[in-house]
Amino acid sequence: MKKSYNLIFENNKKWMEAQLAENPDFFKTLSATQNPDFLYIGCSDSRVSAEEMMGMKPGELFVHRNIANVVNTLDMSATAVIQYAVEHLQVKHIIVCGHYGCGGIKAAMTPEDMGLLNPWLRTIRDIYRLHQAELDAIDDEQKRYDRLVELNVQEQCINVIKMACVQEEYLVDEYPIVHGLVFDMKTGKIIDLEIDFENILKDIQKIYNLTNSNWVMSKKNNKNMQ
Ligand SMILES: [Zn+2]
Repeated sequence: MKKSYNLIFENNKKWMEAQLAENPDFFKTLSATQNPDFLYIGCSDSRVSAEEMMGMKPGELFVHRNIANVVNTLDMSATAVIQYAVEHLQVKHIIVCGHYGCGGIKAAMTPEDMGLLNPWLRTIRDIYRLHQAELDAIDDEQKRYDRLVELNVQEQCINVIKMACVQEEYLVDEYPIVHGLVFDMKTGKIIDLEIDFENILKDIQKIYNLTNSNWVMSKKNNKNMQ
């Protein structure tokens, strides 16, 4: 047990040395500021390593992870991360990444008491209910499970697009764009679900249009005059 914990510091020492060997200013640059283009919202699953699978370096990815990559409007942690990424870091892309074989999705598909996890899983069970006709028409249980992984990503993308800060920033700067991805850990491939960001935005603004504040309109007008 202690041996595996000590490994962290042995690895850290090697990593520091490797970075410095490649670039003596690595940590000087790293500590100066952060300017990532991407916000990544993914599952906490230990097998889904965001930076590694996308070939990103420190400073390139702002990250939020939880069980089954859920974006809930009442979750202060997720919404604060999104707000900060959009308004202060001005990320260009928001990625919601699920993964096949997700334990959180599997648990949500199991109709039984999961104790403390119940309220968290309920948001995913609600997605099942929303797409029940499509899901119940899939006979193969594995395929149904995979499809719920995809639908969960799609719905969490919609939850991100519902946020005022995302709609406002997009109206002014035409970013961030929201993308839905699924990681297939059996092959290592990342699949783009090709979420139609603009159409989803247009569609949900019939109900969730949060962009008509004076502040947004004046910011957009100022931008147009530049
Ligand atoms: Zn997962």
